[in-house]
Amino acid sequence: MTSQYSDLELEAYLDEALPAADMARFESAVRQTPELLRRLAEVIGRREGGAHSLGEIWRRHRLSCPVRTDLGGFLLGTLSKDAAEYVRFHVELIGCRYCSANLEDLQRQRQEAATATVTRRTRYFQSSAGYLDRGRER
Ligand SMILES: [Zn+2]
Repeated sequence: MTSQYSDLELEAYLDEALPAADMARFESAVRQTPELLRRLAEVIGRREGGAHSLGEIWRRHRLSCPVRTDLGGFLLGTLSKDAAEYVRFHVELIGCRYCSANLEDLQRQRQEAATATVTRRTRYFQSSAGYLDRGRER
């Protein structure tokens, strides 16, 4: 599947020189194929010779960001291996600021939700315990 794309096509993709339909098809192939991601990262590195940060280059030729539910799934560990690999590549290697901020936001929400659940459970437990105590007194 990976070998169906030549380095020339990867270059063309980076130059946004492919027809729109091919761009979209390529993007979805990249999302599903970690191997293709690695090759793309190599091509980028070779082209730019380290002159710009990978992140900078990526923002210029940006693959679309994962959707927020994918980011949520990434945190929960419910994504497929390949989808998780894509998020990791996008956020950790490419350093997309938007998605990093999104991930932090989701993480904070999860923590707040977890804290609220504990508080609710504690209250429930205390009120049940109180109820039981009262029951015993009767
Ligand atoms: Zn992003």
